[in-house]
Amino acid sequence: MKLDRFITHLDRISFLNIQVWDFSYHSLFRKYAGLYLFKAMIPHPLTTIRRFSQYRHFIRKKKNLLFQYKNFLFLPDESTFKERIKKQDTKPLIGLGFCLKPYIPDQAIFSCPSGRANHDCLYLQDGKTRQICLSCAIFIIACECLKKGFKVYVMTSAKDIAKDFLIPQIKLCKFPASILLLCPYSIQAILPALIFCEIDALLLAYNRGYCQDYKQWLMADRGMKVEMTALNKLSWDMILDLLRKSATSESRYHHFRREGNIFYPE
Ligand code: SF4
Repeated sequence: MKLDRFITHLDRISFLNIQVWDFSYHSLFRKYAGLYLFKAMIPHPLTTIRRFSQYRHFIRKKKNLLFQYKNFLFLPDESTFKERIKKQDTKPLIGLGFCLKPYIPDQAIFSCPSGRANHDCLYLQDGKTRQICLSCAIFIIACECLKKGFKVYVMTSAKDIAKDFLIPQIKLCKFPASILLLCPYSIQAILPALIFCEIDALLLAYNRGYCQDYKQWLMADRGMKVEMTALNKLSWDMILDLLRKSATSESRYHHFRREGNIFYPE
């Protein structure tokens, strides 16, 4: 317990301009860490050193990061991100946690018909909806993404996020910009990986139902998450505003095509 408190303290004081002490300490010997280490970091040692120093620079120059993890955070900064997604050829990937799906245990009518901890969604898959979908955050955001041609990804585990999103970006530059809805703990944890992969991002934190610490995060990573997450009004307005104002032509897209776990409008 004393060690846990000490590690958390290192994050709080940004020891060595690093704020992933707690997550890194708990992630030692986990599969997702090995995947990232062997597929991304070790094959590119010089890039790893350079990007790690960029991450430390980012932590050093930012003020109030612990507050921003709980609200929203632009990477590398607001104007660069907004300029990037205004470009016609940069269609960001919108990552939505599976915990946003409506879910009440043992009450199918009030729960997502596609199941809980998976990448599936009836609407994204074949355009169908049920009554419960109409109030689902994934449905509302996906409808805007379809108009604008943005890719949608229902996020589950850290291992899948590495396989579906981060490693394809390193190898093929497939996802240079993204808007991710995450718990504050995950925002803090994913930041070095996003910098390493050169992904410009808007990270929006849930303000309800989110995982508070690594123990809860690990349960959710294994698909055990009963609570339904939600954004606060400010973040909700921010994402809808960004999607609606982005300069991509409307009406060109009619449905989503699934490739792996990512849904592409076409
Ligand atoms: S829109 Fe998709 S994720 Fe939301 S409830 Fe319907 S099937 Fe589930």
